[in-house]
Amino acid sequence: MSGGEFELIDWIATRSATRAPVLVGIGDDAAVLEPAASSQLVTTDMLMDGVDFLSAELPALVIGRKALAVSLSDIAAMGGRAVTAFCAVAVPKSAGQQYARELHEGLLALADEFEVVLAGGDTNSWDGPLVITTTVLGEPLAGQPVLRSGARPGDVLCVTGALGGSLRGHHYSFQPRLKEVQLLLELARPTSMIDLSDGLAADVRHLCDGSGVGVRIDSTKVPLTPAAHEASQTGSGRTPLEHALGDGEDFELLFTLDPNDLERVQAAWKHATSITPIGVMTAELELLLIDAQGQPSQLPELGWKHHLAE
Ligand code: ADP
Ligand code: MG
Repeated sequence: MSGGEFELIDWIATRSATRAPVLVGIGDDAAVLEPAASSQLVTTDMLMDGVDFLSAELPALVIGRKALAVSLSDIAAMGGRAVTAFCAVAVPKSAGQQYARELHEGLLALADEFEVVLAGGDTNSWDGPLVITTTVLGEPLAGQPVLRSGARPGDVLCVTGALGGSLRGHHYSFQPRLKEVQLLLELARPTSMIDLSDGLAADVRHLCDGSGVGVRIDSTKVPLTPAAHEASQTGSGRTPLEHALGDGEDFELLFTLDPNDLERVQAAWKHATSITPIGVMTAELELLLIDAQGQPSQLPELGWKHHLAE
């Protein structure tokens, strides 16, 4: 970004205070972090114009916020606390420096909210579309991360919040569930966890594959957003439940609990974001949806995938 690049980086540096565990933040060739007391979580996400957001329809603030929020959601899904963030952007030459600032302003506001330090990144401009990549480091809240692989037959499948219709706005404005996961881990240890980025039907498969178990989801228990109903009513050809199963980008947490922990968690829960039990994990490697009459059917293959040629 020619001379503007350095002006921009100077501005980003003044906007992101260096504090522990960052010893050297923005301004040198690499950041320097204090040695960590525990194992560390690291996640990277790349968001591309036309795929993950539409820059023509959105303020840069919202795009920058979403880029960080997606990575913070991954840290939450590992049972973690987010600590530092890194951000690499390829800004279209036509966009200008003010645009790049707003992008970072959105990202930095969310970083402040969750006490995450922006400790570095890379700033490029080109004739292509906007691409923004965030990397977030975190630490597991309970010493050990919560993986996709710990679910056992008999565990209860639970979800935070409500699902479906995220394209109607939620996929830009969602709150990463970092506060919720902190309380959850104070109350119990989930046996497995994932964040819902591809849609419930796709992501529950990841939990089942990772853990070597099956699942029976009670279709009457899946919490539906107003947006799932609206999307269904406006001619999508899908039921609200199908929106909840397939839309993706809910960025809610899907996790399994020992059934003995469920009551305690629900009794002590104090966040506005709900926790809802929606099914049970099974020894049989099945993926079933149970309807209101108790009839099982195969979980439909809904959900978002990036398509790569074979
Ligand atoms: P180098 O060419 O040595 O990698 P840069 O000029 O790219 O150095 O970056 C200078 C400093 O600014 C580095 O500390 C880098 O991490 C930081 N930085 C660059 N772009 C960003 C950005 N978009 N967000 C946060 N920090 C950034
Ligand atoms: Mg660089």
